[in-house]
Amino acid sequence: MKTKNVYELDPERLATTDEHGHRVYLYPEDVQGKWKNRRTIFSWALLFAYLVLPWIYINQKPLLMIDILKREFTFFGSTLYGVEPIFFFLVLAAGLFFIAFTTSTLGRVWCGWACPQTVFIQTIFSKVESLIEGKSRKRRELDLAGMSFQKVSKKILKWIIFTIISLHIAHTFIGYFIGPRELFLISLHSPLENLGIFTTTMIASAVILLDFGWFREQFCIIACPYGRIQSVMMDENSLVVAYDSRRGEFRRGTLDVPKELEGDCINCYHCVKVCPTGIDIRRGTQLECIACTACIDACDDIMTKLHKPTGLIRYTSENQINGLKRKLLSLRPALYLLIFVSLVIGAGFFLKASSRLQLVFLRSSIPFQITQEGRQLTNHFTLKLSHQGGREYALVFEVADPDLQKSISVITPIHPTLVKKADKKIILFFKFDPKILINGTRKISLIAKDTLSGQIVSSKEVVLVGPTH
Ligand code: SF4
Ligand code: SF4
Repeated sequence: MKTKNVYELDPERLATTDEHGHRVYLYPEDVQGKWKNRRTIFSWALLFAYLVLPWIYINQKPLLMIDILKREFTFFGSTLYGVEPIFFFLVLAAGLFFIAFTTSTLGRVWCGWACPQTVFIQTIFSKVESLIEGKSRKRRELDLAGMSFQKVSKKILKWIIFTIISLHIAHTFIGYFIGPRELFLISLHSPLENLGIFTTTMIASAVILLDFGWFREQFCIIACPYGRIQSVMMDENSLVVAYDSRRGEFRRGTLDVPKELEGDCINCYHCVKVCPTGIDIRRGTQLECIACTACIDACDDIMTKLHKPTGLIRYTSENQINGLKRKLLSLRPALYLLIFVSLVIGAGFFLKASSRLQLVFLRSSIPFQITQEGRQLTNHFTLKLSHQGGREYALVFEVADPDLQKSISVITPIHPTLVKKADKKIILFFKFDPKILINGTRKISLIAKDTLSGQIVSSKEVVLVGPTH
């Protein structure tokens, strides 16, 4: 190769570290192009969904809320009560396998298009930075310049705006778990009254501020667990952002290569200058590549100016780059898809099964009472009603055996008993003729009938007791 270009990276170390291991700050250049336009539209749609939708209420309920403590999940105005941890686990596991499936087919599409790290930094934080400190070259010059009023005031303004944005992102995030209106009301009171929520929100704000404002690509390269494991999910058919070396090489300026053997790459380093993780994609697929497509747009721009076909860097697969066909669904993604579908079906079945009303009887400390001079007995219970799902009940209770219905009265404080949320406890009495007892006990079956649907929604066996003589 000819003399080293300043953008020529040392193959022995990360682009973001110098020879002493210290961080090298990146100033990626702006890029324009069709992929940038598509990603901008997609990012704003995601930002709208994240930042605005939870503040919208339907039926006095937020559009989306996950109340972990109460085990309630609200989605578009409907609430699922008493959600069991196993249901959360099944949904979470299904989500992970869905990401594994998309990664094995579409590569790091999550990182480049939907990860909050990419979306917030590229759509908001970098834009604010450019507005205050200028474009790539100006930002670099400002950081290298000595202290001045202009430098300090720009930095202070930038970090104040970053802080306000971080606070809003963190409050919205916490709002997903306790409800945005509730969070707003809480924020009107002293932090000491809700120290736990206040501390959590402040920690989340600080983490967001430091990560999106300063740590940035370091998180993707060093800290992100998904970034570390995504390579094991991918194979030679996965979609990646890749440089077509068969078309690009020998790149312009390669020593001892005659002009007629030069490929389409003119060695302009435009693809390196725009990369947010500072890598050179011409060295092949790398762990640091977040598939943000910036280098595709950068190179397409150069190719268009040279009147050459675009796509020297493009979305493709290892097989396609090597002239082979890309399988749309190979064994690995097919397995991920199968597990994902199984988990979704499992979660559906679990939800359906556990949405059945459960009755638990707790006998009072006095097993029975004799009333009406021995002609009637009373058994007193606490009845716990629980179910998982969004259904509401208006219950009446009856003895299942028609022969016993006349002899046993079921008494509840309110008739019918309304069950709106996941759990409810009521007091329930059985008043009955002692003659139904056999050796002082009688097992009966109690049915719960929902007057809203007219269906029997649950039944339970109960033992009635009385004196043994
Ligand atoms: S932008 Fe394209 S032409 Fe320029 S160095 Fe990168 S791959 Fe080569
Ligand atoms: S190599 Fe290209 S796609 Fe990968 S992170 Fe850099 S600019 Fe984005």
